[in-house]
Amino acid sequence: MGEAARSLNFIEHIIEEDLGNGFPKQGLRFRFPPEPNGYLHIGHASSICLNFGLGERYGAPVNLRFDDTNPAKEEREYVDAIKRDVEWLGYRWDTERYASDYFQQLYDWAVQLIEEGKAYVDSQSSEEMAEQKGTPTQSGTESPFRNRSVAENLELFEGMKTGKFPEGTHVLRAKIDMQAKNMLMRDPIMYRILHRAHHRTNTDWCIYPMYDWTHGESDYIEQVSHSFCTLEFAMHRELYDWFLNQVHDPDKVRPKQREFARRNLSHTVVSKRKLLQLVEQGVVNGWDDPRMPTISGLRRRGYTPESIRNFAETIGIAKRDNLIDVSLLEFHAREHLNKVAPRVMAVLNPLKVVITNYPEGEEEWLEAENNPGDDTAGSRKIPFSGELYIEKDDFREEANRKFFRLKLGGEVRLKNGFIIKAESCTKDTDGNIVEVQCTYDPKSKSGSGTEESLRKVKGTLHWVSIEHALEAEVRLYDRLFTDESPDTHKDKDFMDFINPNAMEVITGYLEPSLKNAKIEDRVQFQRLGYFCVDPDSNSEKQVFNRTVGLRDTWAKIQEKS
Ligand code: ATP
Ligand code: MG
Repeated sequence: MGEAARSLNFIEHIIEEDLGNGFPKQGLRFRFPPEPNGYLHIGHASSICLNFGLGERYGAPVNLRFDDTNPAKEEREYVDAIKRDVEWLGYRWDTERYASDYFQQLYDWAVQLIEEGKAYVDSQSSEEMAEQKGTPTQSGTESPFRNRSVAENLELFEGMKTGKFPEGTHVLRAKIDMQAKNMLMRDPIMYRILHRAHHRTNTDWCIYPMYDWTHGESDYIEQVSHSFCTLEFAMHRELYDWFLNQVHDPDKVRPKQREFARRNLSHTVVSKRKLLQLVEQGVVNGWDDPRMPTISGLRRRGYTPESIRNFAETIGIAKRDNLIDVSLLEFHAREHLNKVAPRVMAVLNPLKVVITNYPEGEEEWLEAENNPGDDTAGSRKIPFSGELYIEKDDFREEANRKFFRLKLGGEVRLKNGFIIKAESCTKDTDGNIVEVQCTYDPKSKSGSGTEESLRKVKGTLHWVSIEHALEAEVRLYDRLFTDESPDTHKDKDFMDFINPNAMEVITGYLEPSLKNAKIEDRVQFQRLGYFCVDPDSNSEKQVFNRTVGLRDTWAKIQEKS
């Protein structure tokens, strides 16, 4: 969809309104804030496209900020993967930031809050604190430590920082209001003790700031003007603002948190925690397994960055959570690959065809266009000989008039080649057809300009010459879960819905031009679908992944509704 054709979404309306009220355009700044506790998934693509898309639209810088406040779950590997994925999607961040860059500043501000009587060290167990939290309809109970003196608080907080205390013995809490309607405002925890090495600060710290305390202040330090997060943080906005109020200098930009709906994709899970479970339990072969809804999995599957961006643009930004059908994502893969993927021939379920009137031991090389829809795509040569493979499904001994493929006594054109006629077939002892004997019309060669070459026959089949064919491993993928929304069942775990047939491995027979295909090259196997070269390929054996079939099921769903 062109920029001009699209009306503003509600997030853009918020920005336009701020600009209308005098906020300077050059003050706009955004960020994408992943926690490096896993690989990015298709849900993150929405947030990436939103934030970086706004950056492009308004000519504003966008930071990549790692929200790295939980050393127990975060790793360098994830930081690297996230950077790779954002770049691969085609976006460039202004600066790379880490919440951990701000640990000292956050600590200093926390000390300031203690000095102002706005924070205190609580030395109760987490169970005790949970009991005092109250319920949405019942106010909470104040901690017996709530009125500790500033001096005592400062000393304890210092002790927490210097490692005097074991985990779980003390926390720092903001002193807000145990009667607050919004339970998040009932003296939220700002710091907890964690004797864990951090992937960046190592053992410099053994207290770590909580999300709410960190996020808004990080936005403020970076002078982010608009901080977009998903709806589950709507209730946190009040706390985000409270924390900002404690440190905000009126001459500086005050970041604004606004929320949009999380995007869920059907037949998968978009949660790093759940995806990690799939990896750890060996359900898939790593974060970039082509069955995964991760950006790296989609990339390995053969998706293009454009198709993912177009998908995100089409679903847009919403105010309510909803489930997007995975076939819409597949539609976008097909749509873009149709433009860019060269056409080749491969047979995945072979049936031998012998051309009985083809000169024995001969071969010839036929001209084949790489992409009939793209004049610049050029052409290649493919070998033809007297022994070919076609798909098993493309032959029947007998069939009605609607079967436009090969049947005994019938004719088809071999793509880029000749018209053949099926004369007879051979079966094994179980009655399975193992070979079809055909004759060919030597004058019917495609593109030769003869009368015979222009003769119309109903069907066109893809094929490969047996002698020249490359044998490759072909991995056919299906949905990872049998249920459209596997993690929303009360009585069942999402793991109960794993599709055991989500990957099928077969041998395919490929035209020899694919010998030089490189990892991540994407092609269309004509009449079969889009495929790409998997990194498991080596000089001995190539491995192809099926990205998506050719059939446009999404368009059909659309037509019906
Ligand atoms: P997960 O549960 O998968 O870890 P998260 O929200 O905790 O998701 P973060 O790394 O904190 O993951 O997310 C970075 C940004 O991406 C946040 O602004 C978050 O709101 C956004 N985001 C995450 N998942 C989705 C989703 N499914 N749809 C839209 N935005 C998302
Ligand atoms: Mg998270």
